[in-house]
Amino acid sequence: MDGVKNTAFQLDESQLSRFWEKVIKQDGDKCWEWSGSRSQQGYGKFGVKRIPQQAHRISYEIAFGPFDAKMCICHKCDNPPCVRPDHLFLGTHQENTRDMIRKRRMASDGLNFKLSASDVLKIKELAERGAIPFDIAKAFLVTRTCVMGILKGKRRSACSLDKPGQEIGGDKIE
Ligand SMILES: [Zn+2]
Repeated sequence: MDGVKNTAFQLDESQLSRFWEKVIKQDGDKCWEWSGSRSQQGYGKFGVKRIPQQAHRISYEIAFGPFDAKMCICHKCDNPPCVRPDHLFLGTHQENTRDMIRKRRMASDGLNFKLSASDVLKIKELAERGAIPFDIAKAFLVTRTCVMGILKGKRRSACSLDKPGQEIGGDKIE
């Protein structure tokens, strides 16, 4: 029985009131931002049984019930500290990454930008889970050489985004 392992934050009454105390709710469609401590990536942090957890994941569980713990809770609003349930959706890590890159790339209007520190962590994490450099490169829109460089400990400044039309997985690095 290797079934799905669901999240089990299951906050009790007092944890729930502690949780919502840290959320700044706003009217309309605006984000509800976490006012407590945040991770490097900007996600809210909340300790459950002394283990720090991501606040938006907890919020999703409160609203919609336990979910597959391997799945990612993504932000429709692209705002990491937001914990508003209807701004969140369940996705795979790959969907999350593609979504993030698509939005960021649109925002950057075609300018080259380097991988962020959290991209580098994600690349390493994916590789540890057995993803091959070619697939990681496709997900992050960088070259395979870039991914292999990152995995060998090269600086992320050595990587640039693929230019449109450049073959993904190619060996060209600028
Ligand atoms: Zn939001």
